[in-house]
Amino acid sequence: MIPVVGYAAKKAKGPLASYSFKRREPLDHDIVIEIQYCGICHSDIHQVRDEWGGSTFPIVPGHEIAGIVSQVGLKVSHYTVGDRVGVGCFVDSCRRCSPCCKGLEQYCVEGCSLTYNGVERDGKTPTQGGYSNKIVVDENYVLRIPDKLPLDRAAPLMCAGITLYSPLKHWKAGPGRKVAIIGFGGLGHMGVKIAHALGAQVTVLSHSLKKLEDAKRMGAHHFYATSDPKTFENLKGYFDLIVNTVSVELDLNQYTNLLALDGTMVIVGLPEKEMSINAFSLINARRSIAGSVIGGIMETQEMLDFCNKNNISCDIELIPIQKVNEAYQRVINSDVRYRFVIDNKSLKE
Ligand code: NAP
Ligand code: ZN
Ligand code: ZN
Repeated sequence: MIPVVGYAAKKAKGPLASYSFKRREPLDHDIVIEIQYCGICHSDIHQVRDEWGGSTFPIVPGHEIAGIVSQVGLKVSHYTVGDRVGVGCFVDSCRRCSPCCKGLEQYCVEGCSLTYNGVERDGKTPTQGGYSNKIVVDENYVLRIPDKLPLDRAAPLMCAGITLYSPLKHWKAGPGRKVAIIGFGGLGHMGVKIAHALGAQVTVLSHSLKKLEDAKRMGAHHFYATSDPKTFENLKGYFDLIVNTVSVELDLNQYTNLLALDGTMVIVGLPEKEMSINAFSLINARRSIAGSVIGGIMETQEMLDFCNKNNISCDIELIPIQKVNEAYQRVINSDVRYRFVIDNKSLKE
């Protein structure tokens, strides 16, 4: 077994603190990655606080992993020692079901093996994430990080990047399409950059005007505060696509009313509590509400290559692991510009 040092929460809502554990020796198709950077996703916070139910402890969060290959199994064919690689939200899946065969492993009917707070394919070995110095992953679930992308700013693409890229592509954000992003945080700022690069007209709906300048710099054409009731009057029936990235419950009816005929609101934010919908806000313009979760390995690689080509990476605040509990509080207060990334060198062996 490989000794690993990380940071874990021992119980729901507990603080994260130093934690030592072991990972498997690499099997034939595994690679060992020295983790250099790991992003802090709001999903880490939801799970550490057990807001979705069913979290298992101790929990080592982290699914926005960037690092360097340090060892490869005997049959590994795609990667060699020294390669720059990433790991996202899952580390395995059944590989047989229809979604898996289509490269949509995130929709595996048996459930994919989440990078942490999950279990391996044996159904019992707990997985632990990227707030740690090493990870062992099957090469089929690893991404190649293109050379032009700095590793620290690329780490959050593994979740925040693909979570917005996938629905923007699926619902055809592009020239002539009016796209709104609700919530300008880790996911939201990536949504603006990607939708802009795809050629769509991009609007941010944020709860205040504080982040307006940043959003414009990242490619937003318009920016409105949702605290201003006029926003909802002026933009009625305007958007073809709305992506909701907010981590708390919203009054969805207010937002569906902003959709044009046949428009779609895609929910990616995962608040603790349920949200309700009034049928009239949908039927009046044949509107749809949809959901989307991360993306498959093939599409995540496509997103990384797209970001490389378009000079897109995340705006980050780099922190040592010792600041992680403070960083969580700032994320909850919507006070991050725009993703915290842990410098894993700060983990002491
Ligand atoms: P984040 O950085 O905290 O961003 C969330 C944004 O929501 C904030 O920046 C803020 O935007 C808005 N917001 C937060 N609290 C609010 C409040 N009380 N009222 C109104 N707006 C509020 O989080 P994230 O990492 O981007 O994640 C966002 C959500 O997506 C989380 O629920 C996360 O679990 C989920 N997620 C889903 C997937 C998926 O595959 N579906 C993947 C990753 C994450 P403004 O300041 O602009 O208003
Ligand atoms: Zn995430
Ligand atoms: Zn499957």
